[in-house]
Amino acid sequence: MTQSKDLITIATFLNPWDAHILRGLLESEDIPACLASEHVVWLNWQWSMALGGVDLRVPYAAQDRAKEVLEQYMQGDYAAALQAATDAEFGAAEQADACPHCGSRDISSSNTNPGMLSALGIYFFLGVIVPQPKAIKCRACGHSLKELAEDASKS
Ligand SMILES: [Zn+2]
Repeated sequence: MTQSKDLITIATFLNPWDAHILRGLLESEDIPACLASEHVVWLNWQWSMALGGVDLRVPYAAQDRAKEVLEQYMQGDYAAALQAATDAEFGAAEQADACPHCGSRDISSSNTNPGMLSALGIYFFLGVIVPQPKAIKCRACGHSLKELAEDASKS
């Protein structure tokens, strides 16, 4: 397989979506990246291994930094950072095991109906699946966590 003299393949993937995720990761780290042989695999993905998979390529000069980012990804550094950020934002809600309003421990989280409707609408018109926010609600008194937070701020 011939390569452009400016680009070097730093990883090969059996499926294009994994390749796209890591291309996006490299670009988020300001490393230009592109995929090669992607469309051949999309045409006949069952043959991906026989066709050589999808190549993730970066400029020759950026290969050391790109390999470093991929290594951090494989070690789980990005997953750990995402988990820490998620915990920082939603941790208090997830850890609330009792309703501060009535003291009940019967708390449930569920998808909101308007959220599900908008998700269906987005799916039908754009063909994209969007994750929906969860509503955390006390089953005993019916207060949602947002209402409880507002109650706490009033007192
Ligand atoms: Zn309650």
